[in-house]
Amino acid sequence: MRKPAWLKAPIGGGAAYGELSQRIRSQKLHTVCEEAHCPNKGECWSRGVATLMILGDTCTRACAFCNVKTGRPPLTDLAEPLRIAETVANMGIRYLTLTSVDRDDLEDMGSEIWSETIRRTKLAAPGIQIEALVPDFQGRTDLLDVVLESKPDVLNHNMETVPRLQRSIRKAANWEHSMRILQHARSKGFVTKTGIMVGLGETDAEVFEFLEQMAIAKIEIVTVGQYLQPSTQNIPVDRYVDPKVFRDYAQHAIKLGIPRCESGPLVRSSWHAAETAAGVAIP
Ligand code: SF4
Repeated sequence: MRKPAWLKAPIGGGAAYGELSQRIRSQKLHTVCEEAHCPNKGECWSRGVATLMILGDTCTRACAFCNVKTGRPPLTDLAEPLRIAETVANMGIRYLTLTSVDRDDLEDMGSEIWSETIRRTKLAAPGIQIEALVPDFQGRTDLLDVVLESKPDVLNHNMETVPRLQRSIRKAANWEHSMRILQHARSKGFVTKTGIMVGLGETDAEVFEFLEQMAIAKIEIVTVGQYLQPSTQNIPVDRYVDPKVFRDYAQHAIKLGIPRCESGPLVRSSWHAAETAAGVAIP
């Protein structure tokens, strides 16, 4: 399928881009922007914005849509939280989106490193707001609690796709575990955020239904973006959704009472996250 013109994204560049790139390389950090081949890298990095990825660059899962390296991760890098904290403090940003690979190989699934990274970053960069885009921790709310103790400002966890496609798209995850993570964070008073990609085989009716389920769960922020096949190893694109239909999704979400819905071809879970979160009241 030919990519429509509306999916063209700027290449980016400039001083902020170069500086960010240099910081990430010199501190041996990883970003989901690069690992996932995000189409917005040019635009975001030119604004000095990246989503840092912790717990290494090797994921223990192999989701059909995802380009992050999969396999047996090397030993956990215990100095990573400190390097993240120092880097973020030097970046001088007010909002950080942090994510990680899935670490099903670890007893705590990486929750301690998550917590330590958030704590250290808040200490090193006072006043910063942190959005934690967490894995599902196999639905273990005790492990999520370890992360929540470090007080992220937004708890983000992506449902990725509609219920019917969960098994084929996210082989080692499921709808129930992910909903449990979001609802647990919500029950503890955290601002919650989730998102899906379209173009994976779902119908528009299923997207509307997904939004209805998120409204019932009282999720504050929802993102909907176009899936793009990052490599030939990943599942092909099923359809390119017209920008007008993305606007219909957003209008439906607002009608349902979801406070904030970012919906568009190039929307990603962490795209303009600071501006999106500013639209809801963070306690
Ligand atoms: S949308 Fe998110 S993942 Fe993509 S480049 Fe921007 S910050 Fe990185």
